[in-house]
Amino acid sequence: MQTSSRPAGQSSSHGSLFRPDIERIEGYTPGEQPQEAGWIKLNTNENPYPPSPAVRAAVIAAAEGRLNIYPDPLATAFRKKAAALFGVDPDWVLPGNGSDECLTLITRAFIDPGELVTFPYPSYILYETLADLQGGRHERIRLNADWSWNDAITRPLIERSKLTFVPNPNSPSGNAWTRDESRTLIPPNGVLVLDGAYADFADQPDHCDFLSQPGGAGERVILLRTFSKSYSMAGVRFGFALAHPDVIRGLRKVKDSYNCNTLSLAAALAAIDDQAWMRANVERIRATRARLTSALRACGFCVVDSQANFVWATRPESKRAAGPSHREIYQRLKDRKILVRYMRFPDAQGSSPPAEIDGLRITVGTDDEVSGLLSALKDVLA
Ligand code: PMP
Repeated sequence: MQTSSRPAGQSSSHGSLFRPDIERIEGYTPGEQPQEAGWIKLNTNENPYPPSPAVRAAVIAAAEGRLNIYPDPLATAFRKKAAALFGVDPDWVLPGNGSDECLTLITRAFIDPGELVTFPYPSYILYETLADLQGGRHERIRLNADWSWNDAITRPLIERSKLTFVPNPNSPSGNAWTRDESRTLIPPNGVLVLDGAYADFADQPDHCDFLSQPGGAGERVILLRTFSKSYSMAGVRFGFALAHPDVIRGLRKVKDSYNCNTLSLAAALAAIDDQAWMRANVERIRATRARLTSALRACGFCVVDSQANFVWATRPESKRAAGPSHREIYQRLKDRKILVRYMRFPDAQGSSPPAEIDGLRITVGTDDEVSGLLSALKDVLA
């Protein structure tokens, strides 16, 4: 075997072979995924309950079927089901390998080098990474300390934006913005992506009628949904975009021919057919979320009222001075095999000078998992 002393991506005469945009960025770091059993895992907003039994049956049937041939490149059967659920025609639906893939396709389809991508901050860090990968410029729309929009900061950025990503409900905070607020975020010369990864957990999910805005604005709105959270299928990798057929046509040009595989298509088809299963799990999670929120508050945390399957918990300044920091709490829980997400957002909030914020994003697990977390927290904070 030949060996080389050159690091990967380096040529001898030109330095790095990677595009400068790739060299410059860190890349997105997903949450930890411990590979051994025995953890209480509350760090990546997975659903603690299994998917519908129909999903298992469908995957087994698909695996026993014709894996030697390619899947339907247009995912026709799935698009029909999703369209019926959302009251649109199938040509409004574009499935993807997780909604992350839909985010990638959208960025690739709309952003030329130097064009502006905006998103609230703090929110999903991947938006920033995707903009950077594509060679776009990005600007964070800093939110107020109470997670509301700061109009003076937001308006000028939306005016100039080519692509605006808004998770609704937001992560890590879990708050949801109203339909009227979302409407004001459509860039006059760009596209608004309403990322509904957690929409099924909210009191009022944003609906498809948002797409049929007067004055053609609806053609500049894309809704995203995922099967990773409410449908308990993070391991399957399936999500979809809902948008005007002209938008979907453009996005299709960008996607891989067979971006959804035979097994994930079978799983998604079965899952979307079992709405009762998904809704029952969502209701359990919402009930546990209420319990977790009040218990954390009783332990002295500030907790945002969440519309998602996680909560954002921080210690008030007074308690932080005397007790463990957020990072220490995270680490001490980890030492007890309980994983929550420690998150730190430098340069956050529409204040001057901008303040750093950090805290713990805790996924709503089963009642037993949440009990385990709460009793460990009592130790950790003692
Ligand atoms: N959007 C948001 C706001 C998320 O938190 C996530 C999950 N990390 C995603 C999209 C992507 O989810 P998936 O690719 O699993 O559909």
